[in-house]
Amino acid sequence: MTGTIMRVNGIRKAFGGLVAVDDVSFDLMPGEIMGLIGPNGSGKTTTMNLISGAFALDRGTIELHGEPISGLPANKVAHKGVARTFQLLRLIEEMTVLENAVVGMAFQPGRSWNAAMIARSREYLEVVGLADKAGVEVSKLTYIDQKRLELARALAMEPKVLLLDEWLAGLNATELLSGIEVIRKIRDLGTAIIMVEHVMSAIHSLCDRCVVMNAGAKIAEGTPAAVLTDPHVVEAYLGE
Ligand code: ADP
Repeated sequence: MTGTIMRVNGIRKAFGGLVAVDDVSFDLMPGEIMGLIGPNGSGKTTTMNLISGAFALDRGTIELHGEPISGLPANKVAHKGVARTFQLLRLIEEMTVLENAVVGMAFQPGRSWNAAMIARSREYLEVVGLADKAGVEVSKLTYIDQKRLELARALAMEPKVLLLDEWLAGLNATELLSGIEVIRKIRDLGTAIIMVEHVMSAIHSLCDRCVVMNAGAKIAEGTPAAVLTDPHVVEAYLGE
């Protein structure tokens, strides 16, 4: 496939006098996993919030398939095909895995409940590796399984672009490997991904390309191997 799926063009966001995101531009290609990396406070989360519509832009544009999505509220952006996971899990503890997945699907804007959602939810549980735990109560799940479920709920939005904000954080070495596999599988099924991540091994093994931020600005862009050996990038991380 050719062409851009998402175009982020000259976006800016200030909080009072602090410019958190300063004239940042990048493209996302179909089927791509793009890493958004940089030291703490460099503007990664703010960039994700601007893309998802959680924050309004001060300046710039964001397009999905050539159509502007900047200026839309978060629920409309989600409806257009940009889904995200949250660092804080939002699951209903007393309900089962399958019930949570179905609720995630049924409560989207413009959708009404139908029985086919159960079958589709089971498919998403399969993708994230939770099919065998469909009947388990969420409060009984391990941390990684709760994270898998959060991902299944994001997939239920049937996104064109999935935003992952440190989804791999807090996993042990074994869980990390299976988490990496899940992300790769989602991409292989046709969803482009932007991931904010600190786990370097995951960035190396998953990302086709990285955009590196420092102090609100984009300072590098390229393959993980190229950007992580770029002296400007190394210096930015050392200053953390
Ligand atoms: P990162 O995700 O790279 O750690 P953030 O995007 O969270 O960086 O933050 C970038 C800068 O913007 C930081 O200096 C942070 O303190 C500031 N910031 C982020 N969100 C807000 C907010 N809601 N109000 C004020 N300042 C904020």
